[in-house]
Amino acid sequence: MGEKIIGIMGAMHEEIDGIAALMSHVQTEEMGGRTYHSGSIGSVRVVLTFSRWGKVAAAVTATHLILKYGVTDIIFTGVAGAIDPELHVGDIVLAQRLIHHDLDGRPLMPRYEVPLLGMTWFPAHEDHLQRAGSVIQRLLDSGTLISAISPERLHLFGIEHPKLYIGDIASGDQFISAQQHRDAITEHLPDILCVEMEGAAVAQVCYEYGVPCSVIRTISDTADDRSHIDFSRFIPVAGTYAVQMISAILAQM
Ligand code: SAH
Repeated sequence: MGEKIIGIMGAMHEEIDGIAALMSHVQTEEMGGRTYHSGSIGSVRVVLTFSRWGKVAAAVTATHLILKYGVTDIIFTGVAGAIDPELHVGDIVLAQRLIHHDLDGRPLMPRYEVPLLGMTWFPAHEDHLQRAGSVIQRLLDSGTLISAISPERLHLFGIEHPKLYIGDIASGDQFISAQQHRDAITEHLPDILCVEMEGAAVAQVCYEYGVPCSVIRTISDTADDRSHIDFSRFIPVAGTYAVQMISAILAQM
């Protein structure tokens, strides 16, 4: 088996900058409005990039990582709005399956089904899930993750004992910030944990190219009429989460 090259994508500059600071032997290249940083973190080769927001941006970035850089795996990190009422700001969601909540080709095909693929859910790769699941759980149980964040910030968001959830994530080209909008999504997808704007697109591209992937989301808001406020204040915290999680996952690869 050849050497692994891990593509790391994020939808937040703060997350990418923190991860870039961990890299050595870095070469950067600009293409298609993205900056790709190739190098290594520890002994692992990585290509890191800011994907921008939304499904098209994420899909084109994932494709570029696969075709131009030959990445063997992709890890997406970002923030998300909680849907399941058990989730709080600061919790982490690891996607088991991802769906496009805004895709609807009825009556030609069932709601959410991707045309010509015949799939509605895209699974995360089993090895990724197991590795990320145990690494993140350890970061939480040991207190390592929250010890990297100032007590003032933890207090501001009421973060005490963040939890890891593994389950379904829904993606769409909409920032969800109203109860009515949440209800429209959960009416047909009652079991999703959170919403975001990129994951299913990355998972679809990875499925089509046979590249193992995982999507890791930190809850930044509760996808309601406060979400824009929570969201912008939470971003620096999300950056710290991403750095901690990515470096611990790569150390296990
Ligand atoms: N950073 C931008 C906004 C990015 S859009 C700004 O400050 O204006 C929101 C990003 O966070 C997307 O990448 C999306 O995946 C995620 N996200 C967080 N909360 C969300 C929500 N409630 N609905 C949809 N996406 C959300």
